[in-house]
Amino acid sequence: MSESAIEKLVIVGGGTAGWITAAAFSRLLGRTLKIELVESDAIGTVGVGEATIPQIIRLNGILGLDEYDFLKHTHGTFKLGIEFVDWGRLGSSYLHTFGDAGLNLAGVPFHQYWKRAAASGHSHDLWHYSLHRHAADQAKFAKLDRVGNTAMTGLAYAYHFDAGLYARYLRAYAEQRGVTRTEGIVTSVQRDGESGDIKSITLEGEREVSGDFFIDCTGFRALLLGDELGIGYKDWSKWLPCNSAQAVPSERLETLVPYTRATAKKAGWQWRIPLQHRTGNGHVYCSDFISDDEAGEVLLAGLDTKAMADPRPIRFTTGRRERFWSNNCAAIGLSSGFLEPLESTSIHLIQAHVNRLIQLFPRGGDSSAERDEYNLRCAAEFEQIRDFLILHYKQTERDDSDFWDYCRNMDVPDSVTHKQELFASSGRVGRDVDDLFREASWVQVMLGQGITPQSHDPMADGMTEAQLTEFLGNVRTLIEKSVAPLPTHEQFIGQHCAST
Ligand code: FAD
Repeated sequence: MSESAIEKLVIVGGGTAGWITAAAFSRLLGRTLKIELVESDAIGTVGVGEATIPQIIRLNGILGLDEYDFLKHTHGTFKLGIEFVDWGRLGSSYLHTFGDAGLNLAGVPFHQYWKRAAASGHSHDLWHYSLHRHAADQAKFAKLDRVGNTAMTGLAYAYHFDAGLYARYLRAYAEQRGVTRTEGIVTSVQRDGESGDIKSITLEGEREVSGDFFIDCTGFRALLLGDELGIGYKDWSKWLPCNSAQAVPSERLETLVPYTRATAKKAGWQWRIPLQHRTGNGHVYCSDFISDDEAGEVLLAGLDTKAMADPRPIRFTTGRRERFWSNNCAAIGLSSGFLEPLESTSIHLIQAHVNRLIQLFPRGGDSSAERDEYNLRCAAEFEQIRDFLILHYKQTERDDSDFWDYCRNMDVPDSVTHKQELFASSGRVGRDVDDLFREASWVQVMLGQGITPQSHDPMADGMTEAQLTEFLGNVRTLIEKSVAPLPTHEQFIGQHCAST
């Protein structure tokens, strides 16, 4: 990178990635940086990306957004987790919730007590003790930090929202904070002959936009980091084989449930995202195992409400960029990689990358140490999420289609096999310290996908059988009593954030 100070930031792309980046930079570095965002209405955005994970609350906090105002303007709803239907085997279902099941005691995770009880005849599944599952089943929601006066944590949540309205909301936020928006298609990129840094981009009509640092938010095109700077792509489709999606909106659900649903299909899976005004649906599939026509039929046949448009196709390759920041350019959003939407992690990756880039943002001069740190952290984050996603495909008994035969038999990274084996042995989770997914997430997905631990942690033997039975009973009663008075999700939204 050149020696001079960074005064002008150019963001190319105005999808969710571009506008989150613009909003965060204007909030945190807006006093010293001039920020210009270039986007093209003619090219448009990918137009999906409507389910999130709880970390988005942190982003909203950094931006200082009013939660109810934001939900009102994006027709948003609350999300307690994802219901996985037909994944481990046909007919099975489980909820990957954002909370812990039960109550951890004396440093021992609750599922170890539950496992011990199961070995001596208790027949309830882990979700019998899940506050989130009970609230989700009854379509209830409220902001509940804690259960009564106990140490049991309350409802952890994220949001569903309309992707187009979300980008519009953030655009208004960023423009109010001085970000300028330029409309136009980028046709060429000019580089410094010596350093290779990007100096400027040229838009149709020969307009030139120059800058000191560039953020590539051009989606799957990766115009700057990929095409111009030549940073390659690590293809992970041998582990995450889905490469296509078709999306379609349908009428809103009669009962506004507070969770996403992901139903496994013969060559992929179908999402259902409940919004206030409509339902988002999509079929994610591998085109080696099903034709586009048939995938469209599967999608429409799986809708719970009437379609409001024709299915819209999207192609992708799962994987990540070899590097995320090169020279004076970083890629954020789909230009940096895509892991498929099964666990709604892409918007989180955008916010995590923006946050990291701001923390490491150079003032000018040699920033190779910051760049290396950024590339290292982003790569590790992608890999952890990748492993969690692979688990959903690999850990299955399904043998009813070529797709599931492939997934069940594929070789997976050792890091995934190790986690499966450890959990199968004693219900312990071999999670990395900075893993995005908490222990409770790994436990729910491993159990839900069909791994039954052979034994429990001996630390769960610290109470007698009678005490154990009483403990489990108390946890269950506490949960029932907490959920009973909650309003329905629909009522809660009506009271606080109904969109007009
Ligand atoms: P895009 O939305 O594609 O935006 C690219 C921008 O670049 C546009 O503004 C475009 O105009 C501009 N551009 C491109 N080329 C040029 C050019 N030459 N000149 C000028 N401008 C240009 N994420 C989640 O977190 N949750 C989900 O539930 C979820 N579901 C998904 C489902 C599917 C099927 C897919 C494919 C993705 C999903 N994602 C999800 C990911 C999410 O959609 C993206 O992370 C998010 O929308 C960000 O996209 P983006 O801004 O990087 O790219």
